Amino acid sequence: MAAATTAAAEAGLQYTPIDAIPGIVSDLRAAFLTGKTRSIEYRKNQLKQLAYMFKDHQDDFIQSLQKDLGRSRFESVFAELMGTTNEIVETVNKLDKWAKPAKPWAGLAWAAHGATVRSEPKGTVLVLGAWNYPITVQVGPVIGAIAAGNTVLLKPSEVAGHTAKLLAELWNKYLDPECFRIVNGGIPETTAVLDQRFEHIFYTGNGTVGRIIAEKAAKWLCPTTLELGGKSPVYVDKSADLAIAAHRILWGKSFNCGQTCIAPDYVLIPHELQDRFVAELKKAYERFYPQLKGGVNASESYARIINTGHWKRLNAMLSGTKGKVVLGGEGDEAQKFLAPTVIADVRVDDAVMSGEIFGPLLPIVPVRDVKAAVDFINSRDQPLALYLFAGDSKVKQFFFDNTRSGACVQGDTLLHFAVDALPFGGTGPSGYGNYHGKASFDQFSHQRASLDAPSTGILGKIIEAVMASRYPPYTDANLKKMRALAAYSVSFSRPNNPHQSKTASSVSVAS
Ligand code: NAD
Repeated sequence: MAAATTAAAEAGLQYTPIDAIPGIVSDLRAAFLTGKTRSIEYRKNQLKQLAYMFKDHQDDFIQSLQKDLGRSRFESVFAELMGTTNEIVETVNKLDKWAKPAKPWAGLAWAAHGATVRSEPKGTVLVLGAWNYPITVQVGPVIGAIAAGNTVLLKPSEVAGHTAKLLAELWNKYLDPECFRIVNGGIPETTAVLDQRFEHIFYTGNGTVGRIIAEKAAKWLCPTTLELGGKSPVYVDKSADLAIAAHRILWGKSFNCGQTCIAPDYVLIPHELQDRFVAELKKAYERFYPQLKGGVNASESYARIINTGHWKRLNAMLSGTKGKVVLGGEGDEAQKFLAPTVIADVRVDDAVMSGEIFGPLLPIVPVRDVKAAVDFINSRDQPLALYLFAGDSKVKQFFFDNTRSGACVQGDTLLHFAVDALPFGGTGPSGYGNYHGKASFDQFSHQRASLDAPSTGILGKIIEAVMASRYPPYTDANLKKMRALAAYSVSFSRPNNPHQSKTASSVSVAS
């Protein structure tokens, strides 16, 4: 058995022997071919089992998350157990509807051909999770994968070792071991997993590893979903309510100690508003973590940094900034504690403005106005989330119409993750593919096109006569018949085309 990392070893997480991995995957592939997971009732029963795994062991999960992330019961229930259970219940309730074959109207020419889109399982899929929300981003995608009828291999992050261990202990007490398995490990085990053939890979984590996953998947032409991160900006406009904006931004930044893929990474704000905004952040901070009760370090509501490696990374960022620390700043390596920290007057080339922060540091970059904020955002990678605080509807429209991002939210932070009716995912370097609710089911399904052409009996003979003009020997008369049957005529008027010169247009007409 390969050696576990320190965190995984401390948690007592057993790594899967590398030589067992090909067999586990081939068993899952064989189980898929038995057709067992095609039954909607079977899928629903497995999802119900998953819901009971969380219901029966809620306290065990809260404890494992506490050990991994120093997380409060509130945050673990609110951000992981509640959301995941809601998604399971919604999926169980809606699965019949989602899985029902769709019958699109294909036009009169195809009225008898039974055009149908069947949402079908892809086969055996792999879900690779990240440590920051070890239930939501690891078991979350599995819900869609089961709902769509696949057999599933889950590889939890070894960085959140206690939760990975608990998942491994419970998984096959609840889920059918023929169809749903877990492999645990670090890079060597994950590499061995990625050497196997899958029909879909769903990865959550950083973009560097995302590229490794996409390259490995290319060998099998395996589709991937990459849920990545990046720097998610917030613009606070002069038409915003600064007190509400400060509360919601500070909450988004301090939740899970800032270790959230969609956490507001930095704030853009007009120069003249910065001081008032900082004053409101200070009020919100005191309300969240009152000094009278010992402040943030004594607060049970505030989580810890996952490990000393990340703690050191964040502290290096903090000591490298040329901005002004106006709130927080204190830390303690032994406790992996780092206070929510606001840094004002940050310049574009500052140490905190290069990579994703993924911790509780909040830089404020003063800008001239909304136009300057949009230009700044557009000069960087497309973020996973883009936040705006504004009351002016013209500002809202201008901001969202002129930027790109995985999601765009006015007036709050993080909450779009909880709305299952919205697809969740990135664009460009923040990833591709979507999940949550129906989007998860679709992500793990193949939209199989199907026709049931009349080919026997009277109807078969009628359609044969109607369609016979497609057969050789080809003639102009037969082509005319086929066009009459199936061609659209271009009946709309010609739009103005400034690129087409008179000569070019006459050439194209002549040809
Ligand atoms: P991580 O270290 O837990 O790694 C994620 C997975 O990749 C783990 O299963 C790990 O074993 C595997 N892995 C690591 N190195 C590997 C390698 N060289 N080859 C193969 N597999 C390897 O997580 P992380 O990357 O530190 O996660 C943090 C990042 O994830 C942040 O950028 C965050 O924004 C992003 N994230 C995105 C979402 C989302 O939904 N878009 C959610 C959570 C986190």
